[in-house]
Amino acid sequence: MLIKLIVWGVFIYVIYRALRNCLGVSGKQRTRFHGKIPGNVDNEMIKDPVCGSYFPVRQGVRFFHEGKYIHVCSQACRDRFLNELAAPDKE
Ligand SMILES: [Zn+2]
Repeated sequence: MLIKLIVWGVFIYVIYRALRNCLGVSGKQRTRFHGKIPGNVDNEMIKDPVCGSYFPVRQGVRFFHEGKYIHVCSQACRDRFLNELAAPDKE
């Protein structure tokens, strides 16, 4: 009687394992770890027109001026651009 119980226990355990293994394989989701960001240009080094230093585009400050985007390295350079270069006639 006891042996029968053990056999049943092993039997159920094996089925359980098989079922779990089956579900584990079929239920596997394809994770997209290799989804690289297409915009690698963000890492491009560009020159700041104000201070002349080079910096990565995404770390700089971008602002719109006279129909085009201007990239500078910092807020300070943006202010300087707007104050000095963009308005040379200003006193
Ligand atoms: Zn700068």
